[in-house]
Amino acid sequence: MAVTRTVRKPRELKLADFLKLERELARLETENKRLALDNRSLESDLAMSRYAIIELMDVQGLLDGHEGLEDHQDLVAWRRQALDRVLNAADPRPALQMGAYGHGERALCPLCRGSTNGPGNTRGFAFPEGLRRHLLGESTPHQCEVFAAADKSIIRRIRAKVVRMGGA
Ligand SMILES: [Zn+2]
Repeated sequence: MAVTRTVRKPRELKLADFLKLERELARLETENKRLALDNRSLESDLAMSRYAIIELMDVQGLLDGHEGLEDHQDLVAWRRQALDRVLNAADPRPALQMGAYGHGERALCPLCRGSTNGPGNTRGFAFPEGLRRHLLGESTPHQCEVFAAADKSIIRRIRAKVVRMGGA
């Protein structure tokens, strides 16, 4: 039975492979730079869209003070103040007036004018707890889009700062 031996490739071929890999690496580096630029431009588009949402929807300035924050404790303090302002700006009405059964009050979200996806023609959120959860995105998959726009813009700046400090 014939034994097949692996034939060693000549040196020239290895060099050619190496050069091919180098070209591929250079191509990937260029591609990577291009993607990083695209990413930066998308990030800045997203930041502008968030500002536009807040500008258009928050006519009462309930979310003021979110600009320029980049520390976690600032985020926590801003959230508490903004939440208070939005809850104070709400117009709670008896549940029956809002198409719901039972006691208690309900209010539309002062920012997005949204309501819970409840049964029938139920309007607004249970006040204040349901509205609070809508604003903060707690126990619900759908956080208020307007509150989230300000929230996320702060979170993005906190992350950017962490990356900056980590990279220093
Ligand atoms: Zn809302």
